[in-house]
Amino acid sequence: MLNFPTPYPNELIYSTIARAGIHHGITSPKQLLEEVFANRKVIATIDLPSHLICLLTHLSPNYTLEKIVYEHTLFPIHALFSPENTRLKCLHWMGSQSKGSIHLALGVAASKVKQITTHRYCRHCLEEQYHQYGEFFWSRIWHIQGANCCSKHKVKLSEFLPTAHLGGRHQFIPANIIQDLDQLSKPAHELDLIVSRRVDELLKLTPTTSPTFHQWSQFYHRIAKRLGFNKASKHIDHSKIHAAVIRTWDLKWLQQHHLDELKSETSWLKAIFRKHRKSFSYLEHIIVLEALYPEDWTWKDIVSEIHQMPSNPSNTDTQIQGTEYKDISILTEKRNEWVSLTLKYGIKSSRLKNAALYAWLYRNDKTWVILPKNN
Ligand SMILES: [Zn+2]
Repeated sequence: MLNFPTPYPNELIYSTIARAGIHHGITSPKQLLEEVFANRKVIATIDLPSHLICLLTHLSPNYTLEKIVYEHTLFPIHALFSPENTRLKCLHWMGSQSKGSIHLALGVAASKVKQITTHRYCRHCLEEQYHQYGEFFWSRIWHIQGANCCSKHKVKLSEFLPTAHLGGRHQFIPANIIQDLDQLSKPAHELDLIVSRRVDELLKLTPTTSPTFHQWSQFYHRIAKRLGFNKASKHIDHSKIHAAVIRTWDLKWLQQHHLDELKSETSWLKAIFRKHRKSFSYLEHIIVLEALYPEDWTWKDIVSEIHQMPSNPSNTDTQIQGTEYKDISILTEKRNEWVSLTLKYGIKSSRLKNAALYAWLYRNDKTWVILPKNN
């Protein structure tokens, strides 16, 4: 497809595809699928779409699969909290086919935190988009559960309900279909504003390897200890954590997001301070961090703190301690660069394309780079 539109900052790739239809005057959803994906069975997915490799053929050469996924889908709000092998598997599925595997693997399908299934928008942002770009588009930050308001204009997001003839599984609905911009928007809920800001920051984070369950477990244990919320060195005083969470988040708000079960033995809040055996959602992490950290915390600081912890309980671990290289942020950067290169070109070509990078990793991070999954 020639003249495929360039995605706007924070635009869902779903929205760019819908705009491509408008720009090319394609009214049939099936024909749009044929032109963009050469496949009439692709489902129009808002949050975590697949078949994205096809889009690379329409976009300018500076786009990579990782760039589309991290800048134009909701992947970053889940990736950091899923184990590294899941993150890489999902990146691969988003490039090719998924058949629902991504939502299962990231725990989105089974999560208490329900996905947003409608189209949402901030009317003030739409007006600004129109002034700046001459058209509307769907922003990523409007489609995240908990982030139910616009942090810039401090209003509750409005909902667009497609009429029956628009609701098909294969239909990419363009944002310029919204017409009732005159309706007044309601003021934002203070707690939604916190989530919107945190989620916005999370979406802008540079791609990074995911912390292990062991690192997340140690991280939360360390927070509790730092605040004196532990009884003995190993036992956490859950009542103190509960009190802190309730001070920041009101129960009604937590109820709306199905996260109000805080006291039972099986509650998510207790589980996040125990040994992690599964991933927790971005919303659960935000609720705890916001309640227990000073207001100026950032995801960047937290990620860098976590990456410095041992990645698994034994010292025979091959991840960070296996290497002699001490600067973990550079190491993570190099690893990420290698992973995105191999996703795009495969292992053999990547070694030729960036021999210097491979040599660097071989020198500084041999155990990692020669692992079968990385090589
Ligand atoms: Zn807005």
